[in-house]
Amino acid sequence: MTAGALASGCTPDLPPLQGGWVGTHPERGHRLREPLPSASTATPRQAHVLIVGAGIAGLACARELQRRGVDDVAILDLEPTAGGNSRGHQLAGARCPIGAHYLPLPGPEAREVYQLLEELGLVRQQLGRAMWDERHLCHSPQERLFIDGAWQDGLLPAADSPDTLAQYRRFSNLVAEAQRQLGFAMPTRRARWTPGHAALDAQTFAAWLDQHGLTAPRLRWYLDYCCRDDFGAPADTVSAWAGLHYFASRHGFHAPGDETAEREPVLTWPEGNAWLAERLSQPLHPHLHLDRVALQVSEEREGVEVLAWQVPEQRLERWRARHVVLATPLFVARRLLRTPPAALQSLRQQHAPWLTANLLLREPLIDHPGAPPSWDNVSHGSTRLLGYVNARHQALDPTPQPPLLTAYLALPDSQRGALLQAPWQQWADAVLADLAPTHPDLREQLARIDLCRFGHAMSIPTPGTRSAAALQALTQPQGRIAFAHSDLAGYSVFEEAYTAGVSAARVVTS
Ligand SMILES: Cc1cc2nc3c(=O)[nH]c(=O)nc-3n(C[C@H](O)[C@H](O)[C@H](O)COP(=O)(O)OP(=O)(O)OC[C@H]3O[C@@H](n4cnc5c(N)ncnc54)[C@H](O)[C@@H]3O)c2cc1C
Repeated sequence: MTAGALASGCTPDLPPLQGGWVGTHPERGHRLREPLPSASTATPRQAHVLIVGAGIAGLACARELQRRGVDDVAILDLEPTAGGNSRGHQLAGARCPIGAHYLPLPGPEAREVYQLLEELGLVRQQLGRAMWDERHLCHSPQERLFIDGAWQDGLLPAADSPDTLAQYRRFSNLVAEAQRQLGFAMPTRRARWTPGHAALDAQTFAAWLDQHGLTAPRLRWYLDYCCRDDFGAPADTVSAWAGLHYFASRHGFHAPGDETAEREPVLTWPEGNAWLAERLSQPLHPHLHLDRVALQVSEEREGVEVLAWQVPEQRLERWRARHVVLATPLFVARRLLRTPPAALQSLRQQHAPWLTANLLLREPLIDHPGAPPSWDNVSHGSTRLLGYVNARHQALDPTPQPPLLTAYLALPDSQRGALLQAPWQQWADAVLADLAPTHPDLREQLARIDLCRFGHAMSIPTPGTRSAAALQALTQPQGRIAFAHSDLAGYSVFEEAYTAGVSAARVVTS
């Protein structure tokens, strides 16, 4: 799409939009494409372990290193705030997410995540059962879907025919069978990888669904939505392994009428997963070196050298460390390393561009009939808008506040250029146009819209990604350099990022 083609919804009778880009600095990451500045006057710095990237994986790695008694740790990040894709924003004094916004309750394999949540006081064991602090569980009503002119409770479209219902049930059985026969786990490194998994990974999810006669439009819309929501790309782009993993590694798929079905509880906060990122980063404060763009990483005989650009003072730093953990996306790690290992060179991952928009409103919106406003609000039929969450939903303060909504758009690869180049106003118009069918009065009520762009938000588990031997190889250190990023799982969620960080700390100290 060209920048011009984004323009929509001209509203001459309304005041100009207030807002702008927030949260990310694409020009900083793009410094890696430019020639290196002269290193002759670089400021020398050192640390025993240097972590590049203060996203969830980098923070988890530093936390685990400290638990293991390694205190001489430094963490670099190109942004002025730690947290990566799990950072927050503030509008009119209220917190909201710019990226990750929820965490499902961890299953038994996500033991490191459970331990973190226990230490943060979110859960405690009582008589052998996990007791979750209700304040942090998503309050009711959790989610609703706009379909056929009305809101329905829950995101799975009500079955429109006996055949659709039969297909819902059949898919549910196939997910349960895959879970029983093959096994799926979150984080994915805790599941065995068998020829059965590899066969699923060799085809697209859409092809697998076709083979099983699962073609009901409502089922296919829902599965597409789930893939776009977790993987940033639809069912015809991600692998069948990924499509099944989404359900089989967590809660399964529950057809309507399934007696065992319960709404999946999730942890969420007004600022989304920034709540977690801030609690991870706060104790690491003295070790965080923000506004630093790592430019080059070279392994030497006695250690590793990292050249980093210190943005506020526009000068180069030369870091020396015994070990380096690259907690950046793997395509960034490949660019950073002077001599990338073969595994990294052979790896090909696609990354999805995403756009998020925080919308501050003057008054609550007029609502269509049906289910009441919920935490997560999704519109059936929309192809790039995933929906919006209400940042006020979890607020415990009963004082009425202006509504604050966070909208999520997973974009096709072809729109990355426009995301970088088109003015924010055009993207704001695009977001408003996508939201208009559900909320025609949105533009009138809009006080401000802040947009956040992620050119390479998350790796897409395309066919072959998860089976790549290179991915497995990179879970082990290459010399003095270890890797820690959700990309190691082939897709991006908190559990994968956190576990990758803890695992990297273990290999560095073993
Ligand atoms: C819009 C959006 C919504 C999401 N929603 C959810 C959700 O609700 N729940 C969920 O579980 N997951 C969600 N995710 C996935 C999210 O990516 C993961 O949960 C997690 O935050 C990934 O952490 P990470 O450490 O692996 O990666 P990142 O967050 O990518 O961290 C990498 C860090 O490296 C830094 N970096 C990169 N290059 C350099 C360099 N050259 N020098 C210095 N620093 C560098 C970056 O600035 C960044 O801080 C979402 C992602 C996005 C983009």
